[in-house]
Amino acid sequence: MHYDDGAFWRPLFEGDMIPLQVAKGCSHNRCRFCDMYKQPFEASDLEDIAGDIKEIAAYVPMAQRIFLTGGNALCLPQENLVFTLEQLRESMPSKPSVGCFARITDVARKSDSQLAQLAELGLENVSIGSESGYDPALVMQDKGFTAADIERECLRLEKAGLAYSLFFLLGMGGKGKGAVSADKTAALYSKLRPEYIMIHTMTAFPGTKLWGDIQSGRFQPADELENVAELRRFVEKLDTETFILGNHIGNAVRVNGYVPDQREDLLAALDWGLEHLDEEQLRTWRAGMRSI
Ligand code: SF4
Repeated sequence: MHYDDGAFWRPLFEGDMIPLQVAKGCSHNRCRFCDMYKQPFEASDLEDIAGDIKEIAAYVPMAQRIFLTGGNALCLPQENLVFTLEQLRESMPSKPSVGCFARITDVARKSDSQLAQLAELGLENVSIGSESGYDPALVMQDKGFTAADIERECLRLEKAGLAYSLFFLLGMGGKGKGAVSADKTAALYSKLRPEYIMIHTMTAFPGTKLWGDIQSGRFQPADELENVAELRRFVEKLDTETFILGNHIGNAVRVNGYVPDQREDLLAALDWGLEHLDEEQLRTWRAGMRSI
């Protein structure tokens, strides 16, 4: 198997999958807070992919789930993705479902028929680092798309029969912007049908552009408890059926549950955090983090 993309990243819910390297790096690689991928984006050789699929089929023929690695595998040319999905179908008796990371701009570059073709061939869902519905935060962090883009492209995914999950990055707007970010993101995500909303909290690491922004005063991070309050406000206002997946290691209060059914439980846990957690202790804890 070929695995040479540095640290391996996957969504938290993709715990029971077999990774298949179809690309390395992220084709965007500009988000100011991100230090996930060190090398330029590169598509894997199709021969290497075919060889890896043969190995998976030999050792785990009944695998139920394959995750296509790389920062945004959906940006690969359609022929690469079709080749990979067809090889998986032909080689694996279990006909595994497939997932990958995607950027909003990757969806925009695919036609409706291309998206539908990928869904028909077994691409079940994509995980998208949409991060926020608050445009000033998306612009400041150089995400390369706006809230309107997120809405349009997610609705296209729904039309094509491709499920998706979205990230929500707490603190992305900086100090004092938690409430507006929660409102804008809840309003946007309420128009959509994400399977999961994955909650992460902005953490600046040395070497990122965001780290420099903080040193220069261009960006002022939100307080820890403001981030918790941002999530509380988001959960309270979110009006769609989804699963809040918030047990990431970088979240001060880790909550998981369905909305709307478990909304009150989530709010109670967040209220407990707001009442009992200490801002200074949380800052010290985050400053000691070396990686997410
Ligand atoms: S956050 Fe995602 S899209 Fe942005 S640079 Fe990192 S991997 Fe690429």
